[in-house]
Amino acid sequence: MIKIQNLRFAYPNQPPLLAIDHWQIAQGDSVFLQGASGSGKSTLLSLITGVLQPEAEVFNILDTDFLACSATERDQFRVDHFGVIFQTFNLLPYLSAVENVKVPLRFSKRRQTRVQADESPESLLLSLGLSEQQLHAKASTLSIGQQQRVAAARAMIGSPEILIADEPTSALDEDNRQRFIEHILSEAARRNTTVIMVSHDLRIAEQFARKHLIEEFRA
Ligand code: ADP
Ligand code: MG
Repeated sequence: MIKIQNLRFAYPNQPPLLAIDHWQIAQGDSVFLQGASGSGKSTLLSLITGVLQPEAEVFNILDTDFLACSATERDQFRVDHFGVIFQTFNLLPYLSAVENVKVPLRFSKRRQTRVQADESPESLLLSLGLSEQQLHAKASTLSIGQQQRVAAARAMIGSPEILIADEPTSALDEDNRQRFIEHILSEAARRNTTVIMVSHDLRIAEQFARKHLIEEFRA
């Protein structure tokens, strides 16, 4: 569960960007956040994932008070409890698909212990549609659609409670986009994972339980 009260955020020497009086997200919710380019969507995700220091009255992520956490504590919390799919995927190009999926396990004992017998990196990638051969191909040799599946598997390995995706479909064509979103949401529902996805693409919004316009949160 995420609970935010009276959040205000501005970058140094910049005008106020975000103002959230009250925002609560229940565990297992799927939230679609839409807004124009430059409106503060990625900034809000960086606050929720603890990359940026929040200033608020209440800022609880999974009942942890981020206002009382150091940057180092937030970093560990992020790898333990968040899976993140970036717009450009941020895979390590020289590692194989499987090795990329294993990266969060190196940094999080918690996620290591949560990997189930039926959820090896290999099986996750196969369930997302990669072939046996592609499992061991260097990330840089995979297509955009395949790289995106690797990024999704990396975000889901070890079942973090919250899945964050920042415009993950912008590089995909319409068909792949719909299928990708459906897959992410059904996997998340199966694990009771909270999903927060940012996009300017309204065609995928319908599949989410909750929709917000970033304008609601603009200062
Ligand atoms: P969105 O993801 O909706 O496109 P962002 O959250 O990336 O928007 O950016 C919101 C605003 O904050 C933009 O005007 C952007 O230029 C500015 N901004 C983003 N990152 C920084 C930063 N590190 N320092 C100063 N300004 C920033
Ligand atoms: Mg952005």
